[in-house]
Amino acid sequence: MSTTAPDPNEVLDITVIGAGPVGLSAAFWAGMREASVRIIDSLPEIGGQLTTLYPEKWIFDVPGHTKIMAKDLVGQLKQQALEQFDVPVHLETTAEKISWEEDDEGRIVVLHTDRGEIRSRAVVIAGGHGAFEPKKLPGFDMTPWEGRGAHYLVGEKEFFNGKRVMIVGGGDSAFDWALNLLDTAESITLVHRRDGFRAHEATIAQVMEQVEAGRVTLRIPYEISEIEGADGVEKVTLSPVGDDTLETVVDEADAVLLQLGFKTALGPLKEWGFEVQKGALVVDPLMNTSLENVWACGDITTFDGKLKLIATGFAESASVPTQRFNLSTRPTPEFPAGSRAKPETL
Ligand SMILES: Cc1cc2nc3c(=O)[nH]c(=O)nc-3n(C[C@H](O)[C@H](O)[C@H](O)COP(=O)(O)OP(=O)(O)OC[C@H]3O[C@@H](n4cnc5c(N)ncnc54)[C@H](O)[C@@H]3O)c2cc1C
Repeated sequence: MSTTAPDPNEVLDITVIGAGPVGLSAAFWAGMREASVRIIDSLPEIGGQLTTLYPEKWIFDVPGHTKIMAKDLVGQLKQQALEQFDVPVHLETTAEKISWEEDDEGRIVVLHTDRGEIRSRAVVIAGGHGAFEPKKLPGFDMTPWEGRGAHYLVGEKEFFNGKRVMIVGGGDSAFDWALNLLDTAESITLVHRRDGFRAHEATIAQVMEQVEAGRVTLRIPYEISEIEGADGVEKVTLSPVGDDTLETVVDEADAVLLQLGFKTALGPLKEWGFEVQKGALVVDPLMNTSLENVWACGDITTFDGKLKLIATGFAESASVPTQRFNLSTRPTPEFPAGSRAKPETL
């Protein structure tokens, strides 16, 4: 997949913003309809939330798969959309602004990214929750340890093989990883600053079984107050939060996995002039946004009856009129007027 900046002079039919499952699906539909398409994403990998938040979680509700691991679904979408139709993907490229211009063949949507301009006849926004980033630990600066033992994501479980892993957080992802890394890590310590959790009851019960069996060490209510290590994390000092009866403890650890959730925001898209409701882009039944030749699908959209699921995002991406727009590739030289054009190829 391309890590180069896209060519600012190449006008494709469609640019898809977002390489999550729905953006990949939109590229698939563009390929099926013989449109030229590229994808951009601000992250260094494709797959959106599936890659970033839960690559090794089972998904049970994508029709046609009794169950499929998130990263495997991304792998199959990659084959079906990107490889089958040879779709260029420009990663680490964030769409920041939008404008429109004209050439001999009609209107062009110009995306201004942090890696230069991108031109296409239409844009499909499959930006999910926007450009999301992991929440940082409040009250302790982890920056010096990032890349030296502090992690926000679990890409490959194997990376944690044989390591003493300290997981920080009290939600689903912290508890999920406490269980999921049991067969990989040498030891697991789960740290949370409160004694209440925000994870599914069933998962909490499973973790507590492991605590009782001595396979997970639970530190509540504790927070990180110091980290020591030469090349990376070696020792973590934990101070009790609001409980004078507890003592400060020092645990040995090779990795600190911060599972504190993600900040999600429309980010730069909120300045583009879209009609926005509840932090999402309002679309009509053909997935038109309020901007000319800009469609949207997936988690980023809102309409009556909206469901934020992979299956419904796939369906929305099929409704987007991802068709040929360029005269050079179009048998009938006719460009749809405005974003309300009825797709000819549907
Ligand atoms: C823990 C968890 C478990 C889940 N489990 C399930 C499940 O079992 N089944 C199910 O159906 N759904 C599940 N979901 C929901 C599912 O993940 C989402 O519905 C799905 O990811 C939406 O896909 P998307 O492509 O619309 O957005 P995303 O997956 O969010 O992808 C959007 C992409 O757009 C990129 N982007 C955003 N803004 C820009 C920009 N300006 N420039 C460039 N790139 C940009 C982002 O970097 C991101 O990669 C789960 C969600 C979570 C958090």
